[in-house]
Amino acid sequence: MIKIVRKEECTGCHGCYNVCPKKCIDMNFDEDGFLYPSIDSSKCVGCGLCEKVCPIIHTVEVENEPIAIGCYNKDEKIRMESSSGGIFTLISELVIQSGGVVFGAEFDKNYNVRHSYVDNIQDLHKFRGSKYVQSTIGNSYYNVKQFLEQGRKVLFSGTPCQIAGLKRYLQKDYDNLICQDIVCHGVPSTYVWEHYKKFIANGRRISGVKFRDKSTGWKTYSLQIAFDDGSSYKDIGNENSYIKGFVRDFYLRPSCYECKYKTLHRESDITLADFWGIEANEPELDDNRGTSLIFINSESGKSIFEDIKKNIIFKIVDIEKAVAFNPSAFKGALYNKKRSNFYKKYEKIEFDLLINKLIRESFKNKMISYFINEKLVIKRQLSKIIFK
Ligand SMILES: Cc1cc2nc3c(=O)[nH]c(=O)nc-3n(C[C@H](O)[C@H](O)[C@H](O)COP(=O)(O)OP(=O)(O)OC[C@H]3O[C@@H](n4cnc5c(N)ncnc54)[C@H](O)[C@@H]3O)c2cc1C
Repeated sequence: MIKIVRKEECTGCHGCYNVCPKKCIDMNFDEDGFLYPSIDSSKCVGCGLCEKVCPIIHTVEVENEPIAIGCYNKDEKIRMESSSGGIFTLISELVIQSGGVVFGAEFDKNYNVRHSYVDNIQDLHKFRGSKYVQSTIGNSYYNVKQFLEQGRKVLFSGTPCQIAGLKRYLQKDYDNLICQDIVCHGVPSTYVWEHYKKFIANGRRISGVKFRDKSTGWKTYSLQIAFDDGSSYKDIGNENSYIKGFVRDFYLRPSCYECKYKTLHRESDITLADFWGIEANEPELDDNRGTSLIFINSESGKSIFEDIKKNIIFKIVDIEKAVAFNPSAFKGALYNKKRSNFYKKYEKIEFDLLINKLIRESFKNKMISYFINEKLVIKRQLSKIIFK
């Protein structure tokens, strides 16, 4: 029977939940707003399948030589609706045109994020765009397996830990499965997102959310929220308190701080990322409308790339140089010591005020330690002069 001893050792992938033959595993939110398995031991028959499919217990070392490519979709409309260069939509269209099914992250009616599937191009818009909240997998792994067994092509798109969860759940390779992951900074808490939505809505009903609205530019993207009374909220990402707290790691899932999947050697066939630092690396691919950095990780990834390349502008690039401005590609998020302070206060203090206070404190502490260090250096230099 699976037992979570440390929260860092569960990514919330739902593999155990999907595989349990007795349906005795539920996924429940902890107090911080992340899902963990809880087992009804009276129904458990001790088959051990839940442990067998756990991607944290069974880690896989990948040996491959990924190819890095800077690119973007030639279709400007799709590109502008997407977070980076709109490559996800091109891969999905390919799969759907061959009679396949695409799994990705969508908003539910309350603007929480969950995985689901579509098999027509018109519905793909639901998955377009990054959603900065952990997506709930639900029964998706089970559904993927059903489609694969029917012989249908399946594209599964998700975070690298969700891909690892799916692969361990399936327990064998399928020629008709394509896995596409993202370079992932980390996944924020559902409870914090729910709290933020209430704060920003202030009694109004939300009718649309875009985490990466590009009308202010790809590099200076905005968080945009529409309300059913016709009003809307829009702020540049690095000025919005939810995004500021996300990028400073105040409310990521504990496993994100020990992420085992941030590596250049990945289990997916294709990895999608923003090509941050493009102006220094490949300025000719930069028009501030969104450029993707993609890794081709497998033979299957190569053949997808061959099929989509007529629809993209692209250039093969040096992988080490390309990820220099994108640490999430290869190293885990740093645990922020202010995380517990944030969680203690976020339901009591107004969201914007709390985030700004925590950031100011970090800045103040940095300045204090800078001056202490400077003082120590001066003291050491003085004592050297005096006691010479
Ligand atoms: C939580 C999160 C953190 C990220 N951090 C980074 C980063 O640090 N550096 C970087 O370069 N890129 C990061 N990305 C990825 C990047 O922003 C783009 O999503 C990616 O490059 C694909 O862009 P696109 O234009 O091809 O397609 P888009 O249409 O923008 O692609 C959207 C794809 O992302 C998937 N997706 C959206 N939200 C989620 C979610 N919550 N969980 C799982 N899958 C989701 C959708 O299913 C779809 O497949 C992050 C994405 C997310 C969701």
